[in-house]
Amino acid sequence: MAPRDFGRTGHNPRMNTTTQLDRTLLLCRDYVDNGLSNEEIAASFLSLRVLCVADQRNLSTHSGQTCLATLVALLSRMGIRVALAMPETSVILPQPPLAGSLLRESLCGSSNRLLLGAEVEIWDGKAKPNLTFVLGDSEAVETGDACWRLGGNDWGGVIQGKGMVGRWAAHWPVGAMVSAALAAGEAFKHAIRRLPFRNPQDQIFFEASSSAKWDFAPVVPPEGVDLGAVDIISAGAITQAALYALLRLPNVRMKGRVFDDDVTGETNLNRNMLSQVNDVGMAKASLVAERCAPRFDLRPIRKRFQADEHEEELAPSVLVGVDDIPSRWIIQRAAQGAVVVSGTSHFSISSSSHVPGEPCCGCQHPVDDADGVAAIPTVSFVSFWAGLAMAVRLIHRAMGVPYPADRQHLWLTPLRMDLSRAALWSPVAARADCPVKCARSLRAA
Ligand SMILES: [Zn+2]
Repeated sequence: MAPRDFGRTGHNPRMNTTTQLDRTLLLCRDYVDNGLSNEEIAASFLSLRVLCVADQRNLSTHSGQTCLATLVALLSRMGIRVALAMPETSVILPQPPLAGSLLRESLCGSSNRLLLGAEVEIWDGKAKPNLTFVLGDSEAVETGDACWRLGGNDWGGVIQGKGMVGRWAAHWPVGAMVSAALAAGEAFKHAIRRLPFRNPQDQIFFEASSSAKWDFAPVVPPEGVDLGAVDIISAGAITQAALYALLRLPNVRMKGRVFDDDVTGETNLNRNMLSQVNDVGMAKASLVAERCAPRFDLRPIRKRFQADEHEEELAPSVLVGVDDIPSRWIIQRAAQGAVVVSGTSHFSISSSSHVPGEPCCGCQHPVDDADGVAAIPTVSFVSFWAGLAMAVRLIHRAMGVPYPADRQHLWLTPLRMDLSRAALWSPVAARADCPVKCARSLRAA
């Protein structure tokens, strides 16, 4: 870190990259050799150089811009260095937390701001990257082997190691964020593969995917949607990812409250998509409300949601991003309408939604997680998938096309999205021992 950067961003010089990557390093420790220090694991990410290539035509749509901006953010939050080969272009719709009206300038301005040491710069045309990502059908720069093209449409995304993808043409950007998350996963796998593993046979989980895709169900994107009142429980990684996605959907409106009693810590920067280095120490609820304004009118409530305080009732839609299982039960008992829950567990995500009359989130998660208070291993792209799935569930419901009962729950392990077993959709079974004692569980009993 050059000292001048501290002056420019105004953050505390005692901050450090290894601390900011702590939860990512913890996740790597599921598999890497026990003898590695945190600094050695971090070095595999910090020394990785990724080139992002995009031309004017692919950047002339909101989806193309969203794909590139999301990819750069997900890479930066892993500490990976990004070089951009792209023309300057005007921002079509805002890309918070980036500010500014020019895309390349805004992306370069995010250098060292999403995570210390994660530099974003304009490619000099010479430095050889470890990996290259090419947006849509942009003309590729010849840089070597590890190269993927990012393509997609309204709700689905694809990455292709060989072969062409179409130009980014969509205005609706969910597929763009899918494509960026797929690509970020490849960069993560590349970084961890460079480290010695405890069990070398585990490397198979982290093999590169020559191509991968995901589609959140093809429905015609709405002209505009009013999500109405939405209460957001936790302003952490999952709900920040969901709001990051919702903020990018054209003509989507919502209002509501954000409940969180915590302040942003350095170890949140590896995954909290609306947070920046300067925000360390700031109340998460206020930060999220501020980043979502003026698009969404969210009132920050700087405390945990307490059902017994006889406050106003919960809104008709509730987004639940808390990891604590008993807290989810409390929210489910108090809820009158839809409860959308997402969470992560190591390299996997769980996402479900529950309306009255359906098996509830207590039926889905009936047992308290014994090690719920321990530091949670997470990485940017896994948390992002959890939030994106949450945003899609909310918007599909508002559009009147909620997922059917056999897709009430999604379990996704976004490491090998080239394999069909990466995703498991399932119904939620009503359980007689449901801790919430929802209507369906009482019938089951
Ligand atoms: Zn239940």
